[in-house]
Amino acid sequence: MARDERGVTPQSEDFSSWYNEVVTKAQLVERGPARGTMVIRPYGYRIWELLQADLDGRIKDTGHENAYFPMLIPESYLKREAEHVEGFAPELAVVTHAGGKELDEPLVLRPTSETVIGEMMAKWVTSYRDLPLLLNQWANVVRWEMRTRLFLRTTEFLWQEGHTAHADEAEAMEETLRMLDVYERVSREMAAIPVVPGEKTPGERFAGAVKTFTVEGMMRDGKALQSGTTHYLGTNFAKAFTIQFSNDAGRLELCHTTSWGMSTRLVGGVIMTHGDDKGLVLPPKLAPHQVVIVPIARGEQAQAVLDAVRELAARLKTAGIRVHIDDRPQLSPGFKFNEWEMRGVPMRLEIGPRDLAAGTALLAKRLGDEGKTAIALDTAPQTLLAALDDFQAFLLQRAIDFRESHTATTNTWQEFTAAVATGWARALHCGRPECEDEIKSETAATPRCIPLDAAAEAGTCVRCDAPSAYGKRVLFGRAY
Ligand SMILES: [Zn+2]
Repeated sequence: MARDERGVTPQSEDFSSWYNEVVTKAQLVERGPARGTMVIRPYGYRIWELLQADLDGRIKDTGHENAYFPMLIPESYLKREAEHVEGFAPELAVVTHAGGKELDEPLVLRPTSETVIGEMMAKWVTSYRDLPLLLNQWANVVRWEMRTRLFLRTTEFLWQEGHTAHADEAEAMEETLRMLDVYERVSREMAAIPVVPGEKTPGERFAGAVKTFTVEGMMRDGKALQSGTTHYLGTNFAKAFTIQFSNDAGRLELCHTTSWGMSTRLVGGVIMTHGDDKGLVLPPKLAPHQVVIVPIARGEQAQAVLDAVRELAARLKTAGIRVHIDDRPQLSPGFKFNEWEMRGVPMRLEIGPRDLAAGTALLAKRLGDEGKTAIALDTAPQTLLAALDDFQAFLLQRAIDFRESHTATTNTWQEFTAAVATGWARALHCGRPECEDEIKSETAATPRCIPLDAAAEAGTCVRCDAPSAYGKRVLFGRAY
């Protein structure tokens, strides 16, 4: 089959090629000159900004304050928490020279900021009256990854990292689950990704955490994307950095700390959850342009059509719709339609002289309804606001249906391997790391999480028949 040079490899043929072509052709990102880095172009950065603004509001609404910590961290800091340094050592980028001289102590480019923030928490917390300390920072971090992939795993990426200190375990656990809930809501409500919230098994925990929780989304190739994680750190970092407070009886106690992060990775999740063979499909809440208007007129009628389009765009903007007029000359309407489909714009309006005379415009949606429908210009803002809401809900429901039809409850090894070949398996597991490793080497599947809402269930491991360790089913799948 001949392929338009502006088209992309079909998902069914090669999902990975599809992804790499879409992120480039939709003008979201470009590879950076240093290995594994990415340049986020304005269209891709706008998606991140929309996500960031919403998440930032929710972080503040739950009582946190933003601060900023340095990206250069003394290497010795990371060594203070044994599991933390062991987990991050292979991914560290280290500055050994600066100002033309070798440094007395190497500095690491932050892979995450528990250590430097822990050091500051120790200064700022002295009494129970200083607790809870609820901090967040928006920052870039650097992790030297072996294999990189735009948005999903890059040497440098953007994220927020929350860091909190509490008087006891109960409060810190409540915080860890509160932020997991925030991540679930952002994923569902903004990105239209129906993520599954759950706890990580010990082998998948964050380095230095007592408990790690995750939200996992299913991509259209059936693989899982870890879309945000929250960690209860116990007193591990409080011990390493002496974060302590005097309680109301005047005795010193260690704080219980948490950390949690969501990153530009979620933009990759949006692409792989909703995109199709025509390119990107953006949920309206994250679309830089929710509606693109293409004026269609030549010669003497062109100006009248353009005037009417501008007047309509102004009314849509007033109604709160992000609207863009594509009035580029010398490009055919067909070319523009293809380009905006590739770039995932939810709604397109076409207006020509005949539409104008009839007081209408032609509405084409990126997905769902086939064909175009005429809408009245008078009531266009209300019509489009409703249509955008419907489109957002449609994408979420479509993703839920896809996930459900690609997830199976499995009791035998045969059922399990069949399920993880195309999606996810719910299975009982013994909890042994060696058994997880065997499953991974045979099927490439890993335990994604123990879903919070899984029902209690007794039984034996799907792989080795040893007793189930968690008393409920674990979600397994191949993952990014
Ligand atoms: Zn087992």
